[in-house]
Amino acid sequence: MTAKMMGPIRATTHRFALGEAEVTTILDGVHQREGINPPFATDMSDEQIATTAAANNLPSHGFEHTYTPVVVNTGKELVLFDTGFGAGGRDSHAGLLRQRLAEVGYAPEDIDVVAFTHCHPDHISGVMEGDAPAFPNARYAIGRKEFDTWKSGYGIPAQRAQNRELFVKLIPPLADRMTFLEDGDSVVPGLTAEAAFGHSLGHMMFRLESAGKSLLIWGDVTNHYVFSLQHPESTVAFDDDKDAAKATRIRVLDMVANDGLLVAGHHMPFPSLGYVERSGGSYRWVPATYQLRV
Ligand SMILES: [Zn+2]
Repeated sequence: MTAKMMGPIRATTHRFALGEAEVTTILDGVHQREGINPPFATDMSDEQIATTAAANNLPSHGFEHTYTPVVVNTGKELVLFDTGFGAGGRDSHAGLLRQRLAEVGYAPEDIDVVAFTHCHPDHISGVMEGDAPAFPNARYAIGRKEFDTWKSGYGIPAQRAQNRELFVKLIPPLADRMTFLEDGDSVVPGLTAEAAFGHSLGHMMFRLESAGKSLLIWGDVTNHYVFSLQHPESTVAFDDDKDAAKATRIRVLDMVANDGLLVAGHHMPFPSLGYVERSGGSYRWVPATYQLRV
């Protein structure tokens, strides 16, 4: 008998214990995009890009962009980091966070806090479901500078005009349930916000600490696991303040490599968990494996 072809299958949810906390990463969706430059490596030649891609067993004609919100159960509160594309993404292989939350045992009503790394569409669109808050019992946490710059529009690049409209529609109406974070502020006990400005003007990352273990939820400090780490100095079209984004990328990569920190990266390959090691004068993404279980 000839077995029939079943089509590809991939993991879309992942959970592990970190100290006394539980961390679940959930794939909101996947987009395949043409080309590497842009958005990445805008100062590299086609030949350099092809060489880097081939050295990492990747094609150079395009890439897969994955979107991975994170849920942390601190033992006291359930915190969701970023909300994916929401309903607007569901006709294009994204916006699946809500469905997949149910698959891992959480109802939207269970989320106590929604924390935003920043306000690009893949991070905020899922905060509403139709006309109602998607996580009806949640309060919100966002960087003060991130909120203020999108609200005023000051310094927001022209390519983000539509994004700003989306922000104005979705986020300020929730402000009465929102905490505005400065560098070093606590979101809930064990979760600290850290400034990581550049990818967006007020981009934040979050450090979870539980029973001696740490996880850095770095949002979009890097957007490609090869090009952003092996060429962190390259200009990225996605970055709203390109010089600040480069400086932040290099600072955070250096810190993570020095400290051996575990990272959850929104656009790192699913389950989006790994480490950074120094390699050839820059850095390399090392996916997490059984060290999270053993
Ligand atoms: Zn993003």
